[in-house]
This record gives sequence, C-alpha cells and structure tokens, in this order.
Amino acid sequence: MTQSTHQPAIELSAQDREKCIELADGLLRHRASDEDIAVVEKQLGRYPRGIISIGARCVCGTPLAVITRPLVNGKIPFPTTCYLTSPEAVKAMSHLEAVGRMNDFTEQLGSDEDLHAGYERAHAMYLAFRHRVAETLGDTEEHIEGTTAGGMPVRVKCLHALLAQALVMGPGVNPIADMALSEAHDEFNPTVCRCAIRVERAEKE
Ligand SMILES: [Zn+2]
Repeated sequence: MTQSTHQPAIELSAQDREKCIELADGLLRHRASDEDIAVVEKQLGRYPRGIISIGARCVCGTPLAVITRPLVNGKIPFPTTCYLTSPEAVKAMSHLEAVGRMNDFTEQLGSDEDLHAGYERAHAMYLAFRHRVAETLGDTEEHIEGTTAGGMPVRVKCLHALLAQALVMGPGVNPIADMALSEAHDEFNPTVCRCAIRVERAEKE
C-alpha cells in the first residue's frame, strides 16, 4: 500500500488546528450511549454503522448529528465523519436544495474570495478533525485522504453534510452551512426544539 502525500488546500492556523483536536478529543471521550444509538436508529430508519459519538444535540438532548469513524467495521472507508441525523434538519436542507440554493452557493464561491477562503478553511478543519479521530481510533484514512464532504472545498453538493459540520464544529467554521442554517431557521434551529423523535429521559438519576 502506498501512502499518498496530500497537500491541504490551505494551511490551518495553530489555533484552528488546536480547536479541531480539542473537539475531536472531547467527542471521543463521550461515546454514544445505547439510548443515543437507539434514537439515531429511529431517526435514520437503520442502524448507524460506525457511530462513535453524538456530535451535536438539540436543546432537548436529542442527537442532531453524529460522528462516524473513518473506517467503518474495520473495512469501509467513510469520509462523512460528521453525519446529519435530525429528520427536521434533513428536511430543512432538502427544501433549500429543492429550490436550487446549492447552485447559488456554488456560484457565490466563484465570485466571493472571502467566502471561498472560508470554505477552504472549513474543508481543512474537517480534515484536521477527522485526522485526529482516525489517529485516535487507529483507523486508516488511506482511501479518503484529502476528501471531506458536501463538495468541499470547491463546490456545494450536499447541504446536509455541510450542516452536520456546522452543528458539530459550531458557527464560524463553515460559512456556507452557516448561511443555510440561518435560511432554514423557520424549519430547523438547534436552539428551538421541533424534534418528533426524542431521547427517552431516564426515570431517575
Ligand atoms: Zn429537540
């Protein structure tokens, strides 16, 4: 097996790199519980293979996005480390996609240098985050090296994948996802619970 030498589109600042590492370490310390996995299974309608932890939650505690390991079941390379699971969020992004917002955003990337630079940084942060997860779990990134999700860093191909990153990594990381999230606020907002499926709260501590 040969190791490719991937050159990132941009070099992350030490601060950005540190943020990615801290975030990955924090999420890896808190693995998804059986209750979490059961809810995600209901949200997706299938067992979430490769799930490691819950990357983002609604104010009610229900998972919104999960962290999936870079090598599922020890053999399936999976680049979409941040995966959107909230049905409300999924639907909201599908509505934006249906009215052609992906093409609009892609065009904007071509004409707005700052936006493009921000999107490249989001791509680099995704890679740094996943690399820490892969390294910690001992998963190879051989088949997904340099690949992130949602069309990054040059196009907008999937708002669901981009929103998952924004929910996991917070605002100010992925500028396209931040725009999509603000446009979707009437349908989905992580600070306003609209969850149809919720985590069953434990009866007692
Ligand atoms: Zn909720």
